Amino acid sequence: MTELNFITEQIKNQIDGFKKNSIVRLAGRIISSNDGVIMIEGLNDVKNGELLYISGDNYALALNLEEKLVGAILLSSVQSVSAGDIVYTTGKIVSVPAGDALLGRVINPLGTPLDGKGDIITDIYRNVESPAPSIMERAKVSSPLYTGITAIDSMVPIGKGQRELIIGDRQTGKTSLALDAIINQKGKNVLCVYVAIGQKSSTVTKIISDLIKYEALEYTVIVSATAGQPAPLQYLAPYTGTAIAEEFMYAGRDVLIVYDDLTKHAIAYRTISLLLKRPSGREAYPGDIFYIHSRLLERSAKLCDALNGGSLTALPIIETLAGDISAYIPTNVISITDGQIYLESELFNEGIRPAINVGLSVSRVGGAAQCNAMRKVSGKVRLDLAHYREMALFSRFGAELDASTKDILNRGELLTESLKQAQYCPKKMCDMVVELIVMKNNLLKGIKPVCVKEFIDGLIKYIYKKHKEVIEKIVITKDIDESDENTIISIVKEYRETN
Ligand code: ATP
Ligand code: MG
Repeated sequence: MTELNFITEQIKNQIDGFKKNSIVRLAGRIISSNDGVIMIEGLNDVKNGELLYISGDNYALALNLEEKLVGAILLSSVQSVSAGDIVYTTGKIVSVPAGDALLGRVINPLGTPLDGKGDIITDIYRNVESPAPSIMERAKVSSPLYTGITAIDSMVPIGKGQRELIIGDRQTGKTSLALDAIINQKGKNVLCVYVAIGQKSSTVTKIISDLIKYEALEYTVIVSATAGQPAPLQYLAPYTGTAIAEEFMYAGRDVLIVYDDLTKHAIAYRTISLLLKRPSGREAYPGDIFYIHSRLLERSAKLCDALNGGSLTALPIIETLAGDISAYIPTNVISITDGQIYLESELFNEGIRPAINVGLSVSRVGGAAQCNAMRKVSGKVRLDLAHYREMALFSRFGAELDASTKDILNRGELLTESLKQAQYCPKKMCDMVVELIVMKNNLLKGIKPVCVKEFIDGLIKYIYKKHKEVIEKIVITKDIDESDENTIISIVKEYRETN
């Protein structure tokens, strides 16, 4: 009897064990493969966004679930798959390596290294698609993320956890602006992710070498899907970058992510959708084009303290055609983000670089993300500049100008000159505050516009040498009162007398 019991027990265990180890995989067959898009028949229980395994160690992503067919995008090379291949479901969605092992690395959207520095060794993996943090999981955007560019930090401030769009025609300095923001995070405990979508390989190589040159690659991850890569990889790139950034954010770190650029991302998605024979809408984009960008950008957040208080700040880039910000994709992304920095070819060609149009640029988080010192000194500058641009337009008609108009024009000219900033020269917050006090109080009066840069540089050096305590106070308190401002005014006067 006991022996029988023992045998029954053994059989039971084996049955249990068998159940645990078995995986049911559904299989289907590819009936067509065009430009990275495959149609599969016979797969009738597959989820949207599920990873599919194709015999021969290839992968695809299920996107279209029809009654008889499943449309999927290939994640491997187009040549390696052909009609007749067997496709299996996996029950998983695409995941990529994440965590500290990725810092300083260049990867493709599937997490494969492209920099020849060997395998990425990590046990941390993260799904490329994941839900955005809920309202309760978020905190208010309240601390500034400095880009080091005076025109932005003073007039269109960006907060940690904000999404600020960089928009402009081709060759207006969009990428440079984003790179400067990355370079400025050096030593500020902010990690960066740069996602290159549909760019030339040579551009990406240049970006990598610039980041190495300014010692910024060590805290940056680059996700690259160049123009030569298939549309599915370009489509996946920003989600991969966000997954990597999220891993850092949920660990309590501050992260900055740049999507360069979402116009090309939309085009890649349009290509896929047309190949999947989805109905096309405005400008031939599919109906869910808004959703692909909103679900991406909603993942940027400032998390609450209970979730370690990390943040993900996004700088998506959009390229416009002939300055048309009312086209389909630009308006979509403008409405998703919390503000935009508008770059203009005209300003760029006039030599005003960064070519920011202050009138059309806004930050909806605004002053809430500025330190007191910056907020107190920057308000008037924006007004002065707007006033100047308006007047400058009139003065072109050759009208007789009165003294006060001339004064406004002169101030505006000096202000414009001082806001010009070369590439790779990010400024410190305290230096910007001093510079803005000079502007605000019109202390440059009488200096030729061409000499403004030299004057400001000399002044900052002089203050560091002779009155370091003034700068130190701004750095520590991040605030400024009337007496500090008066001290700086008298230092400027003293400097002007001695030079
Ligand atoms: P694309 O549309 O090709 O992506 P873009 O808008 O990203 O162009 P960039 O590649 O950043 O523009 O810049 C275009 C050119 O302008 C580059 O040669 C760059 O060196 C120059 N440039 C950008 N910003 C500045 C600046 N602040 N000062 C001087 N030159 C600049
Ligand atoms: Mg660019």
